[in-house]
Amino acid sequence: MSKFWTDVVRQIEPYVPGEQPKITGLIKLNTNESPYPPSPAVAKTVDSDAIDLLRLYPDPNATELTQALADYYQLDFGQVFVGNGSDEVLAQLFMAFFQGRGQLLYPDISYSFYPVYCELFGVPATTIPLRDDFSLALDDYQADAAGIIFPNPNAPTGMGVALDHIEALLRARPHTLVVVDEAYIDFGGQSAASLVPHYDNLLVVQTFSKSRALAGMRVGFALGQRDLIEGLERVKNSFNSYPLDRLAQRAATAALKDELYFQACCAKVVATRQRMTDALTDWGFHVLPSQANFIFAKPPAGIDAETLASQLREHKILVRYFKRERISDYLRISVGTDEQTDSLLNVVESLL
Ligand SMILES: *Cc1c(COP(=O)(O)O)cnc(C)c1O
Repeated sequence: MSKFWTDVVRQIEPYVPGEQPKITGLIKLNTNESPYPPSPAVAKTVDSDAIDLLRLYPDPNATELTQALADYYQLDFGQVFVGNGSDEVLAQLFMAFFQGRGQLLYPDISYSFYPVYCELFGVPATTIPLRDDFSLALDDYQADAAGIIFPNPNAPTGMGVALDHIEALLRARPHTLVVVDEAYIDFGGQSAASLVPHYDNLLVVQTFSKSRALAGMRVGFALGQRDLIEGLERVKNSFNSYPLDRLAQRAATAALKDELYFQACCAKVVATRQRMTDALTDWGFHVLPSQANFIFAKPPAGIDAETLASQLREHKILVRYFKRERISDYLRISVGTDEQTDSLLNVVESLL
């Protein structure tokens, strides 16, 4: 603590990301990264030409990537905003649309960055409890609010929200900005991207970190109507004009254009998720229905989740445990390769 810290810096409880261990040989199922490498097209973008050009500032508008995203989601160029990871995009939208505009609603069990941004930007928040079965019922979001934000599928439960429920919310609350954080949408959920042209109160946020295997590159984006995107651009251009470096712009564009590889990776993750769910369920785990690249599972009676997590760690397998009310009996386990999943299942079976 320094006497120079502001009140916000003194009081904030920063987000704590999942462990990124320096030790090699660990099976990392704790931060929902892709178990597969990025598209082979990504490596080809890092040629000597690309290196030579690093002496020049990148395109501040990431034009090629933005246009590729617009084409992919059948939107206009002006309906796409890119940023340095979707966490940064989220921070920018808190600044653009929530700071000083009333309260924000989000689920009690959800992405733990939302309360941190609320603190950082001084946005009052009310959490809305998930139902007893951990489902996210948008009917419960009736309170007066400037904004509503939730992940779909939700984290860390993995459970999805149906698109018609999102559309009903957008219709019912035309004066509330609804942000759907679709970090895990490509593993079986229904994206709200198709609703963007029809609702001026919708922002969809996605990332290249999970389904496109580029967590290390930091690329995220938002989809919304022109005025919303312009608000984000005003914030961006008041903070850092070049959030995406040249390599990231090229890599992300290449990854986005390799649709076959992308589909194949997502399909493998979905298949492995099912196999992992079936095995754990057979052994008495309660596994929530996941549409994400992770599962949220409660060990059978007599086995403590936190203890199991540390036993798995002794066997060089990392999973995520949250010591938090309502979810302290659960483990969040990312879907790995088939080989990693076999190792996980073998160790779990030996510990039961
Ligand atoms: C992983 C994740 C993000 C952040 O993604 P980045 O693009 O890597 O910053 C955002 N929201 C949720 C719910 C996530 O799980």
